[in-house]
Amino acid sequence: MPEKVETGVTIRQKKGGKIFLKPARPVSLVMLSSGLDSLYALVKLLTETDDVVLVHHVHIINNENRHEIEAKRTRQLADWCRAKYRDFRYSESTINHKGFKGFGFDIMSVAFEAGMVCRSFYEANDYPVSKLLTGWCTEEESYPGRSPHVKAVVVANCFPYEPPKFFFFDRVTKMEEARYLPPALVRMSWTCRRPVISEGGEAEECGKCPSCEVMEPIHLMFRTKPIIEKRL
Ligand SMILES: [Zn+2]
Repeated sequence: MPEKVETGVTIRQKKGGKIFLKPARPVSLVMLSSGLDSLYALVKLLTETDDVVLVHHVHIINNENRHEIEAKRTRQLADWCRAKYRDFRYSESTINHKGFKGFGFDIMSVAFEAGMVCRSFYEANDYPVSKLLTGWCTEEESYPGRSPHVKAVVVANCFPYEPPKFFFFDRVTKMEEARYLPPALVRMSWTCRRPVISEGGEAEECGKCPSCEVMEPIHLMFRTKPIIEKRL
């Protein structure tokens, strides 16, 4: 979990007399999955801003059996970005919905943990995380009416502290994200929702889930198939 982060702070006072700390640079939290959307947000943040960056990955355990390969690839992506661009704080947590027939939207689990990260950050630093970034691309339409609930989950876990502002860079297509990113990162990503796990523990893309369908032209362009990965 985020501990104290040295950003340089100044002490400010509101008109009502309330004293608060203001960081010298914005603090941005990216909820990094192993897919292209959040990776695009992270790379833009690292290369186009001087924000202090926090990166958090949620192990979402459910009946789709994708959490191990997602965690492995996410760590590889984070290591690559840290070495190539600049340093950031990395943390992980786990939500286990294994055995549930319905396990809800990933974004709700991610929002819940984002709120926890922001809360933890505030308690360590006495000021809030400035911005929260998750992935978003044009192919994935937001479920109607869901957005207020996502924000409510983040706010609930931050309470009574100030929640972060939701922030998105320009919303582009998955292919535009892939073209923006270094090819090595595109190849390192993992996007299949329902990997086929062999008896030997190897994960292979199913080629049939909605994510695999969207990624098909990108896989062809970047020659990322077949992807077979040993169990962690
Ligand atoms: Zn798939």
